[in-house]
Amino acid sequence: MEAEATTEATTEAAATSVLVVGGGLVGLSAAMFLAGRGVETVVVEKHPGSSPHPRAVGFTPRTMELFRAVGLGPRISQQPGGLGPPRRIRVESLAGAWFEETLWTPDAAPASGIEYSPCNNAAIAQDRLEPILRERAVELGADVRLNTELLGFEQDLSGVTASLRDRDDGSAYTLRADYLIAADGHASPIREALGIGRAGIGYLQTVRSVLFRAAFDDALRVRLEEAGRRGFRQFTIDQPDLKAFCGTFGDGRWILMFQDDEERDEATLKAMVTKAIGRPDPGIELIANGRWKIAGLVADRFASGRVFLAGDAAHALPGCVRNGTRGVAVGCRRQRETGPAADQAAASSARTAAHRPWNRCRRSASETRSPDRVAARKYWRCSSKAEQKRAADTKLPKPRMG
Ligand SMILES: Cc1cc2nc3c(=O)[nH]c(=O)nc-3n(C[C@H](O)[C@H](O)[C@H](O)COP(=O)(O)OP(=O)(O)OC[C@H]3O[C@@H](n4cnc5c(N)ncnc54)[C@H](O)[C@@H]3O)c2cc1C
Repeated sequence: MEAEATTEATTEAAATSVLVVGGGLVGLSAAMFLAGRGVETVVVEKHPGSSPHPRAVGFTPRTMELFRAVGLGPRISQQPGGLGPPRRIRVESLAGAWFEETLWTPDAAPASGIEYSPCNNAAIAQDRLEPILRERAVELGADVRLNTELLGFEQDLSGVTASLRDRDDGSAYTLRADYLIAADGHASPIREALGIGRAGIGYLQTVRSVLFRAAFDDALRVRLEEAGRRGFRQFTIDQPDLKAFCGTFGDGRWILMFQDDEERDEATLKAMVTKAIGRPDPGIELIANGRWKIAGLVADRFASGRVFLAGDAAHALPGCVRNGTRGVAVGCRRQRETGPAADQAAASSARTAAHRPWNRCRRSASETRSPDRVAARKYWRCSSKAEQKRAADTKLPKPRMG
């Protein structure tokens, strides 16, 4: 991707006020917030729709407040009041022995129990939420172009000229915008083209997630439903040869996640899922699987001229600390409350957040030996400079779908 800044103003008329690159959660949220305020907005997303591999599932009351402000309140079902974020329990397997509740953030202060918000947490899979945001963005007047890729851009004093390609028919065209929002994900070709570096704790570990359905027998189904009513939707699998996280999206789909640096075939993945379920033949259907790098990295700057970074393009935060799991909450809040023109002060506060996991995880690890804390200790250990470099040099294959 090419980025070029010139000092000469151009006379070309703006075709839109804001061009958002990336139709993920953050790009679509930006489009809703802008269009909701009457700002002419075009979103381009290179894929024809949402990834079938949902990532996020938990959204904070603050995110729900922001969605509510653009009329989405009733369209996204929220957790009943007082249930809080999904609860997690350490287990041998879903069908085996269940031990104690474990905490998302081991050293977090206990919640006050006082509700200050009209909203609650929401548990909705990313691939279910994105279409809702897309539809709302369009209703509010945004022009959302799927299967459309940004090839390059140039900026000058009065705007940005973007080169786009319609992937349906291969045609290329330019679009002039007053501003460009780069919501193009953690690898952000736009951020790279601008030469904006990132700092933070860096690479932590590589995790594989396996999306599956299973034909649970009646006894197990009843057990899991009863647990779900009490808020337990996440399970830390603790077996001598299987340490993993297992969670439900609440729609029949489950995810198994574990630290993984190896290629694995479907038979191996099915065997691992079977072990996590704890039944001999649970009728598993593998839907998708992929590997992710967990990292804490924040862009050195959130803006360059008329281009603004948003979401994972601006900050990738790991999930071992409070708020760290909530990439979307941070992404949306920063756009809504500071606007895309987030300045150096905002960048510096996010940078502090990207370093925070290091300190929190390290402290947690030294306090007790619970599985979460053992995991935290691993995060700490694998964060040496050498490991970060090795990880940075490692190119992962794209998640394999279907
Ligand atoms: C396993 C996992 C679990 C998670 N759980 C949670 C959670 O519970 N809660 C939470 O808040 N967060 C969670 N997250 C983080 C959350 O998924 C991310 O913070 C969020 O997806 C970031 O959204 P985004 O829009 O910034 O980027 P992305 O979702 O990565 O979207 C970027 C989009 O840009 C598009 N794009 C890239 N380049 C171009 C181009 N040149 N032209 C056009 N389009 C382009 C891509 O196709 C993509 O659709 C989780 C992440 C993972 C991996």
